[in-house]
Amino acid sequence: MSQGLVIMSYVVASFLFILSLSGLSNQETARKGNYYGMAGMAIAIFATIFSDQVDSYIILIIALTIGGFIGTKAALKIEMTQMPELVAIMHSLVGMAAVLVGYANFLDHSNGLLGVEKTIHEVEIYIGIFIGAVTFSGSVIAFGKLCGKLDGKPVLLPARHWLNLTLLILTIWLGNVFLSAAESGGGSVALIFMTLIAFAFGVHMVMAIGGADMPVVVSMLNSYSGWAAAATGFMLSNDLLIVTGALVGSSGAILSYIMCRAMNRHFLSVIAGGFGSTSGEVATIEGDISPIDIEQAAQLLDDATNIMIIPGYGMAVAQAQHTVNEISKLLRSKDKTVRFGIHPVAGRMPGHMNVLLAEAKIPYDIVFEMDEINEDFPNIDVSIVIGANDIVNPSALDDPNSPIAGMPVLECWNSATTIVLKRSMAAGYAGVGNPLFVHENTRMLFGDANESLQAILKSLSA
Ligand code: NDP
Repeated sequence: MSQGLVIMSYVVASFLFILSLSGLSNQETARKGNYYGMAGMAIAIFATIFSDQVDSYIILIIALTIGGFIGTKAALKIEMTQMPELVAIMHSLVGMAAVLVGYANFLDHSNGLLGVEKTIHEVEIYIGIFIGAVTFSGSVIAFGKLCGKLDGKPVLLPARHWLNLTLLILTIWLGNVFLSAAESGGGSVALIFMTLIAFAFGVHMVMAIGGADMPVVVSMLNSYSGWAAAATGFMLSNDLLIVTGALVGSSGAILSYIMCRAMNRHFLSVIAGGFGSTSGEVATIEGDISPIDIEQAAQLLDDATNIMIIPGYGMAVAQAQHTVNEISKLLRSKDKTVRFGIHPVAGRMPGHMNVLLAEAKIPYDIVFEMDEINEDFPNIDVSIVIGANDIVNPSALDDPNSPIAGMPVLECWNSATTIVLKRSMAAGYAGVGNPLFVHENTRMLFGDANESLQAILKSLSA
């Protein structure tokens, strides 16, 4: 394929990626956005395969077959609830790719660069490997925390901020050593040391983040993976990779900022770690719970006019979204107002609940963001909380020692009655007790959310 055609294909692919991002910003256009992204990626892959940068098709075919096989197998095997872990581990692969491409570029002396151009290329290698290594180790730790293999609690080393600062200064100093040594063909020792420091930095940074602040980490690592891809693009002189990486990097950074704002956190404090841990005593939950059965829950819904459904991570675990859709259709057919309240960090990945509700074909116009409906709870007859916990925890507002203190939550306790569907009194992701469960207006319906909802549906239809 001629170079002109390759460049044209890259421009078309970049354009499709921009269309994809704009489509993904809205639920109604998200599906279309995905198609644009897929088309852009297909064009990008074909243009790269047939460009004259490729000199060995055998290696390429072997790599594509192995990568394609692993990717397909993982995507088919992964349950919807494991999606966040899959995303985290995918980010780690992007990071590792940047590290490997960086080392390959460092070892390849055939590029013929001299003087300033050579120095710029070495800076690209150094920065690319640094971002890649931080992304890799940080994503592996995030993967461990999201799938429960690592404790979600923040690990706070003494003088951790000084430790981070020392690592940063060391990295800059090693960069200087690397550039000086690279002039005479050396620099590998400094590069290896910097890589090890970057790995340690990624681990330390994500280990220090706990409680309910993981969503910021997930979107931040998404952003890092974009910058790692952009750095790879600079190293390979591949314009499309630079554009795509920058798109992912900047959209991830914007998402992290939005997440921080939604959680009432300062971005830098989350990154520096330590949130999700408090020095004072967390208030203990006292009071009696009021359990109800299926018939009582169905009766409460049948008597209500205004109903708010609040889905949480447990809805994803129970895969209850389709039953939720059936119930909401039935209630609406009985002339009741049914709405959905979505917390920005509900579930385990940004937009998790919206994806599940869209999958179940719940109309978008009855799905509301937390800010849009939080003031309406006093007018709600019944709020039904489906497998949610941290996002409806009043201690976030009342208890300054709570690991989730300051995070805005869905204030469902202001409705006339709240029905909470969960299996036990177990805590949610942040590991804190929830006073909502002993609130005088709350009724607990214990059991798997899908089973309970199916029984409620049966009772309501009878
Ligand atoms: P939580 O993890 O706080 O609570 C989920 C609840 O669901 C649990 O208390 C559990 O209780 C219940 N549950 C689990 N399985 C079932 C089931 N089969 N049927 C019924 N209930 C079930 O989830 P939330 O959505 O309320 O909050 C999200 C949390 O995750 C926040 O702390 C957020 O910061 C964090 N997080 C979010 C990310 C994001 O990007 N959205 C990423 C990483 C973390 P029980 O076991 O008793 O059934």
